Amino acid sequence: MTDFPSATTTATPVVARTREELREARAALDDGDVAVVMTMGALHEGHATLIHQARKTHQHVVVTIFLNPLQFGPKEDLSRYPRTFDADLEICTAAGVDLVFAPTPDVVYPEGDPGVRVSAGPLGDVLEGQARPGHFDGMLTVVAKLMHLSRCSAAYFGQKDAQQLLLIRRMCRDLDFPVQVVSVPTVREPDGLAMSSRNTYLTPSDRETALCLSAALRAGAAAATEGPSVVRRAARAVLVREPLALIDYLVLVHPDTLEDVPEWYRGEALLAVAGRVGTTRLIDNLPVLVGPGGGALEIFSHP
Ligand code: AMP
Repeated sequence: MTDFPSATTTATPVVARTREELREARAALDDGDVAVVMTMGALHEGHATLIHQARKTHQHVVVTIFLNPLQFGPKEDLSRYPRTFDADLEICTAAGVDLVFAPTPDVVYPEGDPGVRVSAGPLGDVLEGQARPGHFDGMLTVVAKLMHLSRCSAAYFGQKDAQQLLLIRRMCRDLDFPVQVVSVPTVREPDGLAMSSRNTYLTPSDRETALCLSAALRAGAAAATEGPSVVRRAARAVLVREPLALIDYLVLVHPDTLEDVPEWYRGEALLAVAGRVGTTRLIDNLPVLVGPGGGALEIFSHP
């Protein structure tokens, strides 16, 4: 694939709100390949990094901004999710995005909630799926629709949402979507906190508490040469020192099956954590190599 330089223009992207506007704007990009970055808005540096990565290898970048009701449970934060469209557009402009598709639910689901949906299967029932029933079916359904509507050849997703990324890869493979799925390492604040649109919910003291998640991952990865139980113990030791973080799970799992790796396991694994801090549910993860020469497989900037 050709290497495209970073955007040099700062033209405001075309904003499409309807299917017709999207069709028209997308047709104007038919001179090159199109990568898509799907978001729920409230963009931050994590999203910008996905866009920059996409810009490097693809001629055109489409960003979707859509709060998908299908992937939120009745008690989740859909109504309070931050909506910052003007700032989002500025980030898209600076990053050289060609087209922003920002539809409302009635544009994406003109017949109401779809009767036919993509099923995530058993991998959608564990970890995040256990805490958020139906979440991954709703997520995959909209990802499939947005891949079709944007007619993309590649789609960029963050490692931050590791289970989502795995399921999207599986969907494209199992259902023969002609889309290259590209992952981008988690972008973090200087102190290690994984960037998230939901971080804006955190009070200053919540934010301090939330640091235990990334600190636990770092501690676990530092013990990676010693085997799975030592990794888990090292990570857990950090979490128990922070009783204000209500931990939902801390797991060391195989990156393809999301099953706990056994004690004899050596190789790549995913150390993942989720918990509630104040009113906010946060997730984080770190790919690690377990065994000789082991450690974090993603650069973790905080010392
Ligand atoms: P969201 O708007 O939270 O649905 O995220 C949209 C995309 O950005 C998903 O592919 C996320 O995994 C990705 N993303 C969110 N936060 C980060 C981060 N801190 N680093 C890298 N990618 C991220």
